[in-house]
Amino acid sequence: MEEFKTDVLILGSGGAGLFAALHAHAAAPQRDITIAVKGLLGKCGCTRMVQGGYNVALAKEDSVERHFMDTIEGGAWLPHQELAWTLVSVAVERVRELENELGCFFDRNPDGTLHQKAFAGQTFDRTVHKGDLTGIEIINRLAEQVWARGIRRLEEHRAVELIASQDGQRIAGVLLLDMRTGEFVLVRAKAVVLATGGGPTMYKYHTPSGDKACDGLAMALRLGLPLRDMEMVQFHPTGLLAGVHTRMTGTVLEEGLRGSGGYLLNGRGERFMQAVDPRGERATRDIVSRAMFAEMRAGNVTPHGGLWISMGHLGPENVRRQFKGMVERCADCGFDLAGGKVEVVPTAHYMMGGVEFAVDTSTELEGLFAAGEDTGGVHGANRLGGNGVANSTVYGGIAGDAVAAWLAGGRAHAEPDGDAIERARRRTLHPFDEPAGDLPAIREALYELMWSDVGILRDAAGLARAAATLEALHERLERTGLQDRDRAFNLTWHDWLNLDSLLAVSKVIARAAIAREDSRGAHYREDHPAVRDPERSAFTRVRAAGRDLALEFVPVAFTRVRPGETLLGKAQAAA
Ligand SMILES: Cc1cc2nc3c(=O)[nH]c(=O)nc-3n(C[C@H](O)[C@H](O)[C@H](O)COP(=O)(O)OP(=O)(O)OC[C@H]3O[C@@H](n4cnc5c(N)ncnc54)[C@H](O)[C@@H]3O)c2cc1C
Repeated sequence: MEEFKTDVLILGSGGAGLFAALHAHAAAPQRDITIAVKGLLGKCGCTRMVQGGYNVALAKEDSVERHFMDTIEGGAWLPHQELAWTLVSVAVERVRELENELGCFFDRNPDGTLHQKAFAGQTFDRTVHKGDLTGIEIINRLAEQVWARGIRRLEEHRAVELIASQDGQRIAGVLLLDMRTGEFVLVRAKAVVLATGGGPTMYKYHTPSGDKACDGLAMALRLGLPLRDMEMVQFHPTGLLAGVHTRMTGTVLEEGLRGSGGYLLNGRGERFMQAVDPRGERATRDIVSRAMFAEMRAGNVTPHGGLWISMGHLGPENVRRQFKGMVERCADCGFDLAGGKVEVVPTAHYMMGGVEFAVDTSTELEGLFAAGEDTGGVHGANRLGGNGVANSTVYGGIAGDAVAAWLAGGRAHAEPDGDAIERARRRTLHPFDEPAGDLPAIREALYELMWSDVGILRDAAGLARAAATLEALHERLERTGLQDRDRAFNLTWHDWLNLDSLLAVSKVIARAAIAREDSRGAHYREDHPAVRDPERSAFTRVRAAGRDLALEFVPVAFTRVRPGETLLGKAQAAA
């Protein structure tokens, strides 16, 4: 097997991975840095897909305290408060860095200040953006800077296992699969940054890019690391619904549509959100998604079984100007967003849960750092729109700084655990040993199960059914092999590996959802609809325990503010 050494190995090239690379390089230019990524650098992952924008408190009437309180209250008191504080305070410098050092152009007001738009669930309009396709601007500029620095790139290289040292005390490297040849590559690294970006693609309707299959979370789980808040899966209310025969179904129509005054209508053409929440369509994503699901369950649906978003009352010209990308996307699917109505459905968008990590991005395993959507704790029970890309860029940068500082302590490469490498090779090659089977049927079954039983509205019976069915589906996958025996660019093999990761992580989601017998944020139990005493908030922590999962509840440390309190001065709170 090909093997080589690097100082720092970064997995993933979204906002988190690229920022980690740039900061590590800036702090320690002499270091050998490698980025390994499942897709093409700059072309894959969800950061590129960011539409709406980037939350940051810049206006003089706004403050990091206000952004913090929105994040904590939006997260239903479950966020790790130091992680949330770091997010909102470092976002201010990160957005300047994006503009002034990396060359991003965001939209501006006539006076030259950055334009900040409304996003749901926030008490201030603080979302910086580039039209409605902000991620392309961010990722293109980041990728150019990475290319310019000669950082090593392993594109179309899939990480299949994090490899610890022989004594299990440190990270020693990562086993990768060169997707172009199907051969394994062992990269031995002093430090590894996990930035593969989670991604709830196990649901029937989902928004993330196709390269995301929760691989990083599955690898962390197998390594024995704790995952937190895994029951918290965010549904974005407005996924495009254009029929089963297009991959456009499930892709997101951005939050700003509701933020700017768009209406949601049921199949009878009636607005329903005002009856649910005084903020109407601008309520948080969890509330809107639940209300939509309830309308759909009641049968008040559009031709494809969803609901409508309607923007025409805001003036078609205005809508066309403000949401050019969205108008074009809808037109591609035969809808007139500017003047008519578009079919939408809640769509799985983001996992608030992930690997437990510290403010400096270190994890339980020495030398392993994690950032971005692979991590849990920043958002608690619900993520505010606009806090996702802020999270990946803020913590990606911190990871790069932390890795450089950690390496400055004079680290050597650890000896990798040879047995773990062999086990990982066997696991990865396993589908070649089984008779060919029906992978699409397993995927469809997973989609339906997660959507109906572990989705927007949950109860004990559905969750128990899901847990048992997930086990059975995983066993079925284990017995299902591949028709095509060629390892080079074998996409069916990668589909198999994706399903393996998705099933492993789906089981964690179901396990945590069964355990949490209250409703908060994105997790809603119809059999336990009340929010249990926020003062006694605790988050779920799940680890692998042999073939089972071990779960515990860990109390939230209210290090900055307790439920019922605010960091805002009275005058500011009143404003
Ligand atoms: C359609 C859409 C719109 C969004 N809009 C917004 C918005 O307006 N505002 C906001 O704040 N957030 C938004 N988000 C969320 C935001 O995109 C994410 O929170 C954030 O960008 C994630 O960054 P990341 O670096 O953690 O992961 P990503 O950007 O997803 O990058 C993950 C990387 O890991 C790679 N990878 C995955 N598995 C492996 C593997 N096994 N081996 C190697 N590499 C691997 C992928 O190829 C990719 O390069 C949106 C998300 C979507 C899907």
